[in-house]
Amino acid sequence: MALESRAAEALALLHRIGSQYASAALASSFGAEDMVLTDLIARNRLPIVIFTLDTGRLPGETYALIDRVREHYGVPIEVYCPDTRAVEAYVRDNGVNAFYRSVELRQSCCAIRKAEPLARALAGHGAWVTGQRRAQSVTRSAVEIEEVDAAHAVRKFNPLADWSEDEVWTYIRNHGVPYNTLHDRGYPSIGCAPCTRAVLPGEDIRAGRWWWENADHTECGLHRRPLDVVVRSEGVRA
Ligand code: SF4
Repeated sequence: MALESRAAEALALLHRIGSQYASAALASSFGAEDMVLTDLIARNRLPIVIFTLDTGRLPGETYALIDRVREHYGVPIEVYCPDTRAVEAYVRDNGVNAFYRSVELRQSCCAIRKAEPLARALAGHGAWVTGQRRAQSVTRSAVEIEEVDAAHAVRKFNPLADWSEDEVWTYIRNHGVPYNTLHDRGYPSIGCAPCTRAVLPGEDIRAGRWWWENADHTECGLHRRPLDVVVRSEGVRA
């Protein structure tokens, strides 16, 4: 399918989400896929809120992009921060970079800095839009365009689930979409600064995320699988 047809399909889905759900939200980490969705939502003035999680450990390039997006599209970006006391307790008990020491310490850091703020951000929203793609990693190979996330009691939409990396970047170039400059320096997937590195040519897209762990663990807990119910875009069931 031609890229513009794919983009039209994604836009139609976003239109449907915006009209069907009183309060829909795009959770953006300002990665390339999230920028495609931001462009579709912002240029078409869709009633979909854009929010991000400021873990307190993001790269400077990501903070710069948040402001560029605000200026470029003239849309508000809701920023959710972790609970200060939880971060202070974690750092006091474990140190500032404890996530390198074990999967458990890494997951508890992600729970404090990402999962809890995400739950707060999603509360009250009926639909959660994400930029997940199947081809991004083994942990995302089963992503569907439309799902139900029972843990957050929300419909979850992944409009770019079947897009390729090439399609994402062609869209970004064709539409002059702002993007994180770290992508030009070998970072295909960008999260917190201490937990993200550049990848080598031929390496998996998410190989630079928590690279010291087994590839099966390389998610932060925001996109838990399996979900209780998985549905496709043509049929919705609770
Ligand atoms: S990605 Fe790293 S720094 Fe960020 S929340 Fe997870 S463990 Fe903590």
